[in-house]
Amino acid sequence: MNLKKTDKKIYDLIKKEIKRQKEEISLIASENYVSVAVLEALGTPLTNKYSEGYPNKRYYAGNEVIDKIETLAIERAKKIFSAEHANVQPHSGSQANTAVYLALLKPGDTVLGIDLSSGGHLTHGSPVNISGKFYKFHNYGVNKNTEMLDYQEIEKTALAVRPKLIVCGTTAYPRSIDFKKFREIADKVGSYLMADIAHIAGLVVAGEHPHPFPHCDVVTSTTHKTLRGPRGGLILCKQTDRLDKENTNLAGKIDKAVFPGIQGGPLDHVVAAKAVSFLEASKPIFKKYIKQVVKNAKAMAKEFEKNGVRVVSGSTDNHIVLLDVSKYSESSKKTQNDLEEVGIIANRNTIPYETKSPFDPSGIRLGTPSITTRGFNEKDSVFLADLIIKIIKEPTAKNKREVKKEVAKLAKKHSIY
Ligand SMILES: *Cc1c(COP(=O)(O)O)cnc(C)c1O
Repeated sequence: MNLKKTDKKIYDLIKKEIKRQKEEISLIASENYVSVAVLEALGTPLTNKYSEGYPNKRYYAGNEVIDKIETLAIERAKKIFSAEHANVQPHSGSQANTAVYLALLKPGDTVLGIDLSSGGHLTHGSPVNISGKFYKFHNYGVNKNTEMLDYQEIEKTALAVRPKLIVCGTTAYPRSIDFKKFREIADKVGSYLMADIAHIAGLVVAGEHPHPFPHCDVVTSTTHKTLRGPRGGLILCKQTDRLDKENTNLAGKIDKAVFPGIQGGPLDHVVAAKAVSFLEASKPIFKKYIKQVVKNAKAMAKEFEKNGVRVVSGSTDNHIVLLDVSKYSESSKKTQNDLEEVGIIANRNTIPYETKSPFDPSGIRLGTPSITTRGFNEKDSVFLADLIIKIIKEPTAKNKREVKKEVAKLAKKHSIY
């Protein structure tokens, strides 16, 4: 029985969500639209299989085909990221990070990570997350004037707190990260270095962001942001643990931490879809896509600055444009709602040295991965930025009506699926 006949309610809601995605324009920096090929792999009977363990080391029978699929996913991940080892089983980016902490740390160990208001993720030591509850996280932030990472300051903090692990990588940092500098700091204090490239994975693969290898011991990522794969996580690492003289098998530690450390059986349909997306990311057309993602973000940042809407750090090197809307708007929550009313989906966000509450902070975070998948070029992006500026500055009923019409036209012109 098909879905429509079995469960009309869910069928109708899925239809509604597809319609919403088609008619609205997403500028959520962590979202993207996967290909039909990725969707096809996701909706398969692979979801029926149990395959605890790793290729050729499973606990259940019947895994000949699954072994081949996971091996392909691993080989492709290693290739596109130039990695010595890959684990494609983490169910999400958060799971990937949690597994690395379990592999490298003991409860109570000291870790150095970026603070939330400078773009850190919950899994980088937030008190409400398992990372903050089990490990002693210390923070570094960005420089108050440049709003960029200040490697001298980070080194000072590292020397003071002597972390076992340094975590770099963010959710809302619009500039490039210098992994080489982080490695120099890690070497000075004898710590592991982990890069969380959840947001920039696609840029790394396409060569539009400095590469975390060979500098990092471990690299974690999501597969669904700029990488444009299915929702999921990924861990890449070196084979050898350079700090543990007793057990130098870093790859083995990472695998053990994922399963049986924090997960049971992998989601084989998702692993297959990851493999498809890794293949797609290896093609020249993906490189072209990512180049356009960055061009669109730069064009938008320039347009905002030109029109007096402050862009955090002045510009962007990646797919993120972080706006400080406090000059025009009492409430970024209201601005987020105003934008939603006209069909532009973005999220409110803290900015460096945030003075307001995280529930109603000063910033709006925009990202170009989704619009670029829809075929937006710089001209379309600047046009969209102008519509956003209109709503930020003067969210009148008349302006909203006008902008809503333009957004509908844009969405229709750049269709998905
Ligand atoms: C999105 C993100 C994650 C978490 O990914 P989930 O799949 O939502 O768990 C982790 N780290 C960073 C830096 C992220 O941006």
